[in-house]
Amino acid sequence: MWDFSTDPEFQKKLDWMKQFVRDEVEPMDLVFNRPGHNFDVTDKRALAAVRPLQAEVRRQGLWACHLTPDLGGQGYGQVQLALMNEILGATKWGPRVFGCQAPDSGNAEILAKFGTPEQRARYLAPLLDGEIVSCFSMTEPQGGSDPRVFETRAVRDGDEWVIDGYKWFSSQARWASFIIVMAVTDPAAPAAERFSMFLVPAETPGVTIVRNTGLMGEHEDEGAHAYIHYDKVRVPADAMLGQEGGAFHVAQVRLGGGRIHHAMRTLGAATKAYEMMKERAVSRFTQGGPLAGKQSTLAAIADSYVELLQFRLLVLHAAWTIDQGDREAGKIGIGSVKIMSPRILKDIVGRAIQLHGSLGVSNELPLGGYWVKAASQGLVDGPTEVHQIGLAKRILKDAKPAAGLFPSEHIPTREAAAREKLARYIAMREEEFA
Ligand SMILES: Cc1cc2nc3c(=O)[nH]c(=O)nc-3n(C[C@H](O)[C@H](O)[C@H](O)COP(=O)(O)OP(=O)(O)OC[C@H]3O[C@@H](n4cnc5c(N)ncnc54)[C@H](O)[C@@H]3O)c2cc1C
Repeated sequence: MWDFSTDPEFQKKLDWMKQFVRDEVEPMDLVFNRPGHNFDVTDKRALAAVRPLQAEVRRQGLWACHLTPDLGGQGYGQVQLALMNEILGATKWGPRVFGCQAPDSGNAEILAKFGTPEQRARYLAPLLDGEIVSCFSMTEPQGGSDPRVFETRAVRDGDEWVIDGYKWFSSQARWASFIIVMAVTDPAAPAAERFSMFLVPAETPGVTIVRNTGLMGEHEDEGAHAYIHYDKVRVPADAMLGQEGGAFHVAQVRLGGGRIHHAMRTLGAATKAYEMMKERAVSRFTQGGPLAGKQSTLAAIADSYVELLQFRLLVLHAAWTIDQGDREAGKIGIGSVKIMSPRILKDIVGRAIQLHGSLGVSNELPLGGYWVKAASQGLVDGPTEVHQIGLAKRILKDAKPAAGLFPSEHIPTREAAAREKLARYIAMREEEFA
């Protein structure tokens, strides 16, 4: 929609990606289109179709670009990653074809950072090669945004840990080879030190998927978000990822980069809806003219254009602050885009649905999927409200209380001070102007 890349070599890569996604990846979306199909490593046909695409992406040097060079990545900065993720955003298979699929991308990051050499060899290597998929299991049925309500326990028993409890919305568990489970290891500790992470092979006895919850419109048990019972699940002591009591720290590492990439992918979906709206406005005729002749249509298109551009700049600015190495500014940027993502998508997709009439709400356009994505974006990785609180607290850190009884911008108070400052001029007599 708007080219921001100034490096011609990088721009060539973006152009290649756009064409490749349109020609090769979107057909995957249309044919292998079950919920979570892009994670289903048991579907041999889908695997046979995706492998050559992944090989081509590797040949182009674009595989798993979010990774640092020591893990095989290209060392792209966040601004470049943001531009790439935007292209992948309107597709389901895009991230899988390009080796940057959540939650695998985040799981790979924490394995790389906190995993022992044995853990990395067992889990990270096949994950990075795209041979297996993984799951992150943190949210519980009684609550997700406040970890203090989490109850799943891990108790040490000799050389093992025994995990007991229920987890909710553990995405992709049904296809995952291993699950990263967050469990309470010290209930008496402050929340930040109460939990530890465990690497649990999916086939471990006691791991039972109660059901695979679907998103709106998906059939029961066809979904990709597992309700899991961990019933006396035994794992060896060396299954712990990171330090005992260190789960919060591990989780934080996983979320930062992911949120900004989610935001740029959101932009990709919103842009697709916007482009659809433009086409519809000049294609559909009613009451003797195109929809584009109606003021309300023009307003919808103008608002969407402005909102998209604002959001794009917000995301690129957040990415740029991260690239500058300013952690605090980076967190403010990430919080900002996290709050705006669902809003932008909901507004633009909502308008696109309206302009498409009944077709808009049908399952014959991708808009319904984007609509659910908009609602999900307000929850995934923490609800909007929690991020608003976090963002506002950061912003308020350097706010200073007013020095006096009234606010600093109180006009009568300021006017009195200004009058005092300018008293000499106010008191000037007519003959002094000569
Ligand atoms: C598509 C999708 C995929 C997901 N994948 C995973 C996954 O792979 N692994 C995993 O562990 N979890 C996953 N989740 C769960 C996600 O992390 C939780 O949905 C999220 O943390 C919110 O928890 P909750 O759903 O229990 O909502 P609750 O915590 O019950 O919150 C519900 C609502 O209450 C309000 N609220 C909550 N706290 C506050 C507050 N402090 N101030 C004001 N209002 C508040 C907000 O409106 C919030 O939306 C996924 C969710 C979705 C939608």
